[in-house]
Amino acid sequence: MLKYSIIVPAYNEEKSLDLFYKAVTPLMDGLNEEYEMIFINDGSRDATKEILDGLAQKDNRVKVCHFSRNFGQQAALLCGLKESSGQAVIAMDADLQDPPEVALQMIEKWKEGFDIVHGRRKKRNGETAFKKATAYVYYRFMRKITKMDMPADVGDFKLYDRKVVNAILSLSEHDRLLRAQVAWVGFKQTFVDFERPERVAGKTHYTLKKMIKLAESGVFPNTDYTLTFPIKLGVLIGFLSVVCFITFIVLACSGVSFGGLTAWLFPTIGVAVAILLVCQGLANMHTAMIYREVQNRPIYIVSEKINFDK
Ligand code: UDP
Ligand code: MG
Repeated sequence: MLKYSIIVPAYNEEKSLDLFYKAVTPLMDGLNEEYEMIFINDGSRDATKEILDGLAQKDNRVKVCHFSRNFGQQAALLCGLKESSGQAVIAMDADLQDPPEVALQMIEKWKEGFDIVHGRRKKRNGETAFKKATAYVYYRFMRKITKMDMPADVGDFKLYDRKVVNAILSLSEHDRLLRAQVAWVGFKQTFVDFERPERVAGKTHYTLKKMIKLAESGVFPNTDYTLTFPIKLGVLIGFLSVVCFITFIVLACSGVSFGGLTAWLFPTIGVAVAILLVCQGLANMHTAMIYREVQNRPIYIVSEKINFDK
C-alpha cells in the first residue's frame, strides 16, 4: 500500500498549480517514501485541466479527477478521500495557503501515533476582517450547538489516517462539511500551528453566499438544535405567561387596578403562542428523528480491536 496521498481540490487554479507541484514534490521526495498526489479539478473554466493533464503525463504519481462541472470544494475533497490509497492522506489547497513544510510536521505527528492532525491557523494573512470575524463566531457557535469538539481556526488542511478516511467515507449524508464530520468521527487528534500565508496567485472562490452554504452544511447534519429550539422558546413564553397570570390574579384579589381587561390579553396570547411553539417543536423532534434515520450514520465507530480473530 502507498504510504501517503496528497489530495488537492482545484478550481480555476491555472496560476497556482505549477507552483504547488514544484513546492510539494521536493519535500515529499525528501521523505524517501511512496506517495501519490491526487488533484481534483472541480469543473474549472481556465487552463487547470490542461495543466493537470500535463503534470500527470510527466509524473505518474500525479493522478487527476476532472469533475463534469463545479461541485464545490467539499465534493472535491470527498472524491480525493475516496480515490486515495495512502495510509495517511493529507488534504491541501492548491493555492499554497497550506504550507507544504507544515504537511511534513503533520507526517511527524502521524508517525507519533495520531490519527488526525489538524493544521491550525495562528495568523491569517490576506483575509478580510469580516472573514476572520465570521469564522471566529461560527466555530464558537458550532461548538455550542453541536456539542461536538470542533476545533476553532482549523480548516480542511489536515492529515487523516486510513481508518479515519474509512470512517468518514461511511458517512453518506449529502450535505457535508468535512471538518464537522471529522469532529464527529472522533479518533486521536492533534494540531500543528501555522501562519496562513496569502494565496500565491488568483483570488478566493468563497463568496459570502458560498460561505453561508458551507456553514449550513456544518450545522444541519450535526445538531437538532434548530428543530428543538421552538420547544425551549415555547416553555419560556409559557412560564412567563403563567407568572404574569398569577401576578394579575394576586393584584386583582388585592384590589389593585392594573389596566383592566386588555391587560389579561398578554398572558392569554402568551399561553396560546407557547402551546403552538411546543406543538411545533414536538413535530420538529419527530422530523429530527426521521432525518437521523435518513442520514443513516453508523451508530458507533471502532478505532481499534484487540485480540479478535482477523
Ligand atoms: N476550490 C474548489 N472548488 C470550489 C472552490 C474552491 O475545489 O468551488 C478549491 C480551490 O481551488 C482551493 C481550495 O478549494 O484549492 C480552497 O479554496 P479558496 O482558496 O478559494 O478558499 P479560501 O482559502 O479563500 O478559504
Ligand atoms: Mg485559499
